[in-house]
Parts: sequence; C-alpha cells; structure tokens
Amino acid sequence: MRETDLRSTEGNVLLTSLEAAVGWGRGNSLWPLTFGLACCAIEMMATGMARFDIDRFGSGPFRPSPRQADVMIVSGTVTHQMASRIKRLYDQMSEPKYVISMGSCANSGGPYVDHGYSVLKGVDKIIPVDVYITGCPPRPEALLDGLLTLQKMVKKMGLVRSGRGDRDKYEPVVIQG
Ligand code: SF4
Repeated sequence: MRETDLRSTEGNVLLTSLEAAVGWGRGNSLWPLTFGLACCAIEMMATGMARFDIDRFGSGPFRPSPRQADVMIVSGTVTHQMASRIKRLYDQMSEPKYVISMGSCANSGGPYVDHGYSVLKGVDKIIPVDVYITGCPPRPEALLDGLLTLQKMVKKMGLVRSGRGDRDKYEPVVIQG
C-alpha cells in the first residue's frame, strides 16, 4: 500500500468482534413472517405502511414463507384449530428464530379468556415467545417498540442460539401497547 493510501484510511478503521458484527447484522434485518389471525393484524399491516414505515428498521420484507423469515408476529386470536398450523410454521422457520406475540388474544386469549371454548389461552402454550405486546389491539408504535426491543435482545445474543438454553438467559419482555 502506498503512503498516501495509508494516510487516507486514518480515522476510518473499525474494529469489532465477529459476534458483535453478526449480532448487528441479524438484529437489523429481522424479516417477519406474514401471519395475521384477526383484528390485531390490521394494526400490524398499518405498521408496514408509509406512515409508520417498519422498513426503516430493516423489517419491511414480510415473507410469505417460513423458510425466509426470522420473526413470527402472532397478531390476533389463536384458535385451537389454528394452533397446530402455527406450530408447524414455527418449526419450519430456520434458527435463529424469534416470536412477537401481538395483542391480548395472542398473549392470553384476550376477550375470550373465560368463555372462548375454541380459543387457545396464549400462543406461548405452543411456541416460545420473546416479546409480548399488550393491548386490544396494540398501536403500530407499540409493535415498533417491540421490534426495537427484540433487535436489542438479538444483538446481545451469542453467535449460536441454542433454543431453550438461550431463552433461559434472555427473559421475555412485555411492551405496553
Ligand atoms: S386482542 Fe383485541 S384487537 Fe387483537 S385480535 Fe384480539 S379482539 Fe382483536
């Protein structure tokens, strides 16, 4: 390298660990699985529109296939009939994978908690949840808050996320919707 080239790199050298670089990349490109179940999904769709612009956080590409998705946003009422489909889609996502439970229905059964015989009382009964967002429905800002919280968690996770082991280290977070 010539002396002038060396001088031109002064002040522009970035040193980091591989783990931090991978975490930064993973955290800033969390692609959601397109998956709406009921009224909360309308707020999720609004989050992707120009007004709220989820794209600026790297999560604009909602994917139609679990093979291409990093985060499942369960938004809406989880019926017993749908539960097995959710589990199957979650199993088809490749690691590392994450789950945001959006709204009271997905968190705990919501308005159907007492008398909804057909409703599962919380999606965490079938898949592990990383971020819960309260509300009926939560506003798009709350979903963005949940996404940014998940980004911070992902950036702190190690290179290899090992299912339940990692989840024991990183407690799920509750965001007020
Ligand atoms: S939490 Fe409320 S808004 Fe969301 S799916 Fe359930 S009933 Fe609809």
